[in-house]
Amino acid sequence: MACAIVAASSRPALSPGVSLAGQDMIAPDLETAIESLRRMFDEAAMIVPFTGAGISTECGIPDFRSPGGIWTKMAPISFDAFLASEEMRIESWRRRFAMEEHFRKARPGRGHRALAALHRAGKARGVITQNIDNLHQASGIPPEDVIELHGNTTYATCLDCGQRYEIDWVRERFAAENARAPTCACGGFIKTATVSFGQAMPEIAMRRAEEWTRACDLFLAIGSSLVVWPAAGLPLLAKQNGARLVIINREPTEFDAVADLVVRQDIGTVLAPFAER
Ligand SMILES: [Zn+2]
Repeated sequence: MACAIVAASSRPALSPGVSLAGQDMIAPDLETAIESLRRMFDEAAMIVPFTGAGISTECGIPDFRSPGGIWTKMAPISFDAFLASEEMRIESWRRRFAMEEHFRKARPGRGHRALAALHRAGKARGVITQNIDNLHQASGIPPEDVIELHGNTTYATCLDCGQRYEIDWVRERFAAENARAPTCACGGFIKTATVSFGQAMPEIAMRRAEEWTRACDLFLAIGSSLVVWPAAGLPLLAKQNGARLVIINREPTEFDAVADLVVRQDIGTVLAPFAER
């Protein structure tokens, strides 16, 4: 689902202009974290939130990369394998159907609602996300203001002509054709609209994400371990362009040292006060 995974050591070194904030930027408790966030939101002219799996776990979407997550048990199917083999296309669809209940039942969480409120208030440009669950759109942010770096799994497209197909339609065809992976009327393969391992990053989405990141004065990294390159370069890009950097994540990240504020609390709990209309 995600694309190029590159080791942390391949990240660019910090530019001289980026100073290390140090451990004192870690919010000591929930109350202080919320207070600091409120102040930073008030002071910001343009916020760009960047979200990862952590914002959706309270919505019942499992974190594929976490210990015990699907990807630690089953190797992901690469884009090349999907193209090369009918067996892999079938396996890929079987896995997707097995996840359907999670995606269908999921509703936006407190984090999603807080970001939607910031967007409504004109504070946030939109959201850049690594998630494929469609929950930012479901929270009320218009699709054109959600930049999906890893695509979207709630629908499918033809790899050749781009025609959109709904998951239910694919499942019906799959059943009707004795578990054969359906193809488009044009003959192309139909695949979830996600970016698979080995599949090219969506260029336009990446370019827009970089533009937004350069233009913001507050970059909010939420629920991402910030290890998937190139998306992980965005917080650093923001910092190098003079923005403040806030990291909200249960676990430490390698960018904590350059952040202006680090919040290691439950994401939904921290953002809940901002979700109110
Ligand atoms: Zn087609």
